[in-house]
Amino acid sequence: MRLTALLFVVAFVLFSSACTRAPAENGPGMDSAVMWAKYAAEYQAISAQVYAQATRDLPRLLADESWSAVPGHEGETDKPPAIILDVDETVISNVDFELHLEGPYTSLKHYEWTNSYDAIPLRGVADFVAVARSAGVEIFFVTNRMCEKIEGNDDVCPQEKSTIGDIQEVGIDVDINHVLLANEKPDWGKEKLVRREHVAKTHRVIMLFGDDYGDFVACTRAVPVAPCTAGATRASRAAALDTYQDYWGNGWYILPNSMHGSWTSVR
Ligand SMILES: [Mg+2]
Repeated sequence: MRLTALLFVVAFVLFSSACTRAPAENGPGMDSAVMWAKYAAEYQAISAQVYAQATRDLPRLLADESWSAVPGHEGETDKPPAIILDVDETVISNVDFELHLEGPYTSLKHYEWTNSYDAIPLRGVADFVAVARSAGVEIFFVTNRMCEKIEGNDDVCPQEKSTIGDIQEVGIDVDINHVLLANEKPDWGKEKLVRREHVAKTHRVIMLFGDDYGDFVACTRAVPVAPCTAGATRASRAAALDTYQDYWGNGWYILPNSMHGSWTSVR
């Protein structure tokens, strides 16, 4: 009898595990960078901390009319205030895409994923954007998702619609005039300096948010993109930490990204 009971238990356990999809487990052989983004409460806490700090800083940076978070634009007191946020790993998390990615990353795989699944919000961002908007600040999203034609689709930039959809899925309303993609205009390459300057022409940009050095600092990529003429190195990026020391946590708010970024290509 006891053996029969044991066999029954073993069969039940095997049957149960076959019927449920096992979650990805942390441990040897797993990509700890992706596991951290997927499961670490620490990641959620950092995101909450960043947006809480920014919410506290907002009244001060808004009131100081000489302040700009884009170096070189200080003292432009006559412009309406704006904030620039990156999208991926700043407003939405791509951790599930990374977890299920097969083979090398391609922008088409990412585009198809974002169209198939609801976006995952970064903790705190939607509340922060609501507070900023209620204080009269205009919100721009500057992303290096690329405008590019897709076979069988007449839209010249289907990625813009899917990006707007993703931002709306995390509870932030947005229109086409406030989402600036790479290649959306002829001179908008992957160097985000160009699009920051575009926004700064008409607005006083009081805060920048991103997960990549390039969301804040110009010319941080290993392969330079116009107007940059020299590629970045680990040393040049480290030097910029000192140059912009006063901005971190004071107008510039960086979120962690353990999974990907321009840092991976520099030497
Ligand atoms: Mg990003």
